[in-house]
Amino acid sequence: MFDTLQGRLAATFKNLRGKAKLSDADIDATAREIRIALLEADVNLSVVKEFIAAVKERATGSEVSEALNPSQQIIKIVNEELIRILGGDTRTIRFAKKPPTVIMLAGLQGAGKTTLAGKLAHWLKSEGHSPLLVAADLQRPNAVTQLQVVAQRAGVHGFAPEPGNGVGDPIQVARASMGEAERRLYDVVIVDTAGRLGVDETLMKQAADIKAAVNPDEVLFVVDAMIGQDAVNTAQAFATGVGFDGVVLTKLDGDARGGAALSIARVIGKPIMFASSGEGLKDFDVFHPERMASRILGMGDMLTLIEQAEKTFDEEQSRRAAAKISSKGGTEFGLGDFLEQMKAVRRMGPLSKIFGMLPGMGDLKDQIANIDEKEVDRIEAIILSMTPAERDDPRILNGSRRARIAKGSGRSVSDVNQLVDRFFEARKMMSQLANGQMPAGMPGMPG
Ligand code: GDP
Repeated sequence: MFDTLQGRLAATFKNLRGKAKLSDADIDATAREIRIALLEADVNLSVVKEFIAAVKERATGSEVSEALNPSQQIIKIVNEELIRILGGDTRTIRFAKKPPTVIMLAGLQGAGKTTLAGKLAHWLKSEGHSPLLVAADLQRPNAVTQLQVVAQRAGVHGFAPEPGNGVGDPIQVARASMGEAERRLYDVVIVDTAGRLGVDETLMKQAADIKAAVNPDEVLFVVDAMIGQDAVNTAQAFATGVGFDGVVLTKLDGDARGGAALSIARVIGKPIMFASSGEGLKDFDVFHPERMASRILGMGDMLTLIEQAEKTFDEEQSRRAAAKISSKGGTEFGLGDFLEQMKAVRRMGPLSKIFGMLPGMGDLKDQIANIDEKEVDRIEAIILSMTPAERDDPRILNGSRRARIAKGSGRSVSDVNQLVDRFFEARKMMSQLANGQMPAGMPGMPG
């Protein structure tokens, strides 16, 4: 989403490289470039003005540090100002002292509320909560079924009027769900409400009535980041008509410029709490202003990456693999271990997403987009066609075994050969590294 902005800012910073000192003219020129970058990214005009004024003032002001070079200084200031417009600190759900915590979702039709309801429920469940999903969207013919499907996918309970009972009253449903939550001890209730294609009074009134009926702890305004400045206008309408506590940005995977959505927090004065970036249950993140800022600045998102790695990596398994690779010349590290490690990396998400979060990968965008996820599937198919003995010690793979494996995995013998050769090479290198040697074939490091 923020590719153009990222590229423009990077070019601006590049121009400053090598300068020993920033003249007033340099600062003006830089401010102008940042202004264009933000406007092109569709950031709200008033937010841009405020942003540029702050950058200019700070770049000329007394805070300029001797320790940083001009380009670093500007990056630091822009980073801090970005964090500020994105809302400053991370803010997640405030849970009620006495459960259930009631979360109400509001927004236009198609914003991604129902999808979000499932992601939120899934996330809450993984955090140890027991959420109940409530379909208080009885406008769209399919809404109730869709929510039930979403609940099922998320592995949580859905609460909706029985199908076939005709169109019910969403306020009744919302109210009834509170009783259900208390009876069955759900500690979070997520109430999905109806949206319309545009802002209208009936919609606002219904949302406001549901809000009055369930007295939510958090009202989340869900908005499609692709709709440009309408995102800000709609947010303003919902802020007046219904009132909300936080914003959820959806469809950040889209190719729109996204700047408008980023302006909401500043314009409305409500934090962005979550971000949605795809149709899958896991395409969902707590929104961290500082991480988003560093992502926009092309510094990558190391924190998210580390957190994901911690969540998905099996420590015990990694330790076993490390022990195998560092003893006996690595010969105990087999293809099975290799496959396990590869799968552990994959559990962190699509490879293109993982690489996109690494710092300095901005220039490699196109190559990353071409990473062939299927390649990993092919490798997996080959390894799974081996017997356990072959996986443990690939040295026994003679011609007839290789032919059998090729057939079993639907690959060619040369694919099998290539994989086995690469595995031996990688294992040798890893084992040498693990034992503190410089792998053979790599240029030696000076002293
Ligand atoms: P609602 O009307 O607000 O409940 O919106 P839905 O949850 O039904 O979503 C509308 C459409 O947007 C559906 O086709 C979703 O699959 C899709 N959608 C929702 N969130 C995202 C997202 O983060 N990325 C993408 N690409 N599509 C999304």
